[in-house]
Amino acid sequence: MLKSPSLSRHCDQCKQYGAVELGENASFVCPNCSHPWGKTTSLDAIFEYCPVCRCRQFYTSKDFNQLLGCLVLLIGIVLVPFTYGISLPVFALLDWFLAGKVPTVINCYKCGSEFRGFPDAFKRFKPFLHHIGLKYDKYR
Ligand SMILES: [Zn+2]
Ligand SMILES: [Zn+2]
Repeated sequence: MLKSPSLSRHCDQCKQYGAVELGENASFVCPNCSHPWGKTTSLDAIFEYCPVCRCRQFYTSKDFNQLLGCLVLLIGIVLVPFTYGISLPVFALLDWFLAGKVPTVINCYKCGSEFRGFPDAFKRFKPFLHHIGLKYDKYR
């Protein structure tokens, strides 16, 4: 199930969330309002720098609704007093189990673009690091 490479982000013009397919050496625009988003050079070199904002740092995350993850953790925390702390590891496990089922996305630290369909690339990147994220907070 090879998906074609795509990029998803919130458009800074219309604020809609949209996804576009990425091609070699091609400009791409917002699918909702046609606002220009960026331009790729080669897809092999796409993580040399972000085609939208030229940021050179990326992190990986699991491709599922972040809310779901937070919710699972929250339920775990709420249940702590009743289960004497057993629920936290259980829910962390559940979280991990859920996460294992979903593909990895690569995210740009600066503009938050999500890159899908680059099956090998994510080995080069690490999950979100808070101290790097802080540097880019002002751009979000
Ligand atoms: Zn737009
Ligand atoms: Zn970017």
